[in-house]
Amino acid sequence: MSKPINTSHRESPQSAPTDLDRSMMQRAIGLADDSSALGEVPVGAIVYDTTTGEILASAHNTREMHNNPAGHAEFSAILQACESIDDWRLNHCTLVVTLEPCPMCAGLIVNARIGRLVYGASDPKAGAVRSLFSLCDDSRLNHRCEIIAGLEQTHCSQQLTKFFRSLRDQK
Ligand SMILES: [Zn+2]
Repeated sequence: MSKPINTSHRESPQSAPTDLDRSMMQRAIGLADDSSALGEVPVGAIVYDTTTGEILASAHNTREMHNNPAGHAEFSAILQACESIDDWRLNHCTLVVTLEPCPMCAGLIVNARIGRLVYGASDPKAGAVRSLFSLCDDSRLNHRCEIIAGLEQTHCSQQLTKFFRSLRDQK
């Protein structure tokens, strides 16, 4: 198979999700549901050990409850995972998140050396993995992760649409 022509600095080709990725995405979707019940934007994230499948961290958005602009699900999950293994390097880990990471989170993904990233819905307004920027596999940066985009994307984006619609209806 010939490589597609690519004018950006992206390197990794799209890989296929594993069964483990799929079951972790279901868990992340459950976390996102918890998040919306608390009035937070429904985003859920899991960090797991790619080889053993052990879950190192799970989180949902907490921006509103903690008034924390960094309270994004994947940001919290990465910090938790590093704490749990006492190491800031997560090369052996997979991050599963229901929404495409923003520039802040994509930056943390690179800095934490996440090995694999699996996400659901794309975010045309803030996505920094494929939509607006390609921070997680830019060959100019010192780390690139394997990216699987769009796993359960219909379900994940419907979750978000439903949440924002009910916010509008409340107003
Ligand atoms: Zn973010």
